[in-house]
Amino acid sequence: MKCMNCGYVTQKDSCVMVSETLDHPSGKGFINLMQKCQICSRLGLLKLFPGCSLPLSREVSVLGDFTPVMEMEYEGLEPVDLSFGHGWVVNSLVGGKLHPINLANEREVGFYFDGQVEYSVSNVQTKLVRSKRNSL
Ligand SMILES: [Zn+2]
Repeated sequence: MKCMNCGYVTQKDSCVMVSETLDHPSGKGFINLMQKCQICSRLGLLKLFPGCSLPLSREVSVLGDFTPVMEMEYEGLEPVDLSFGHGWVVNSLVGGKLHPINLANEREVGFYFDGQVEYSVSNVQTKLVRSKRNSL
């Protein structure tokens, strides 16, 4: 995370999960991360919007394109990089079970068999894209 006041970039990763929420300090609903800059003490807030994701299809993957998996709003501190962790699931578009998946290993995540469907996730890459949405 980078401080939007002094520019300091934290050395330690910040973990954010949809299932872990905090009350917004101004009473405006909830947020998923609240932390202060270690240098200037500016308060940073971040909120996740998981409903903005699209399924990752084979066609998109083959083209080397990206699929949006999460939208977020922030103020005070801005994310400069991201990586996946645990807590994700693979869900086939043709039906079947949800398979827990750890995306922390970006090279090879696993193969899954679900009835007649075989699928895998590997070489996971991420990028941050700014939108013009208002901040928190
Ligand atoms: Zn700062």
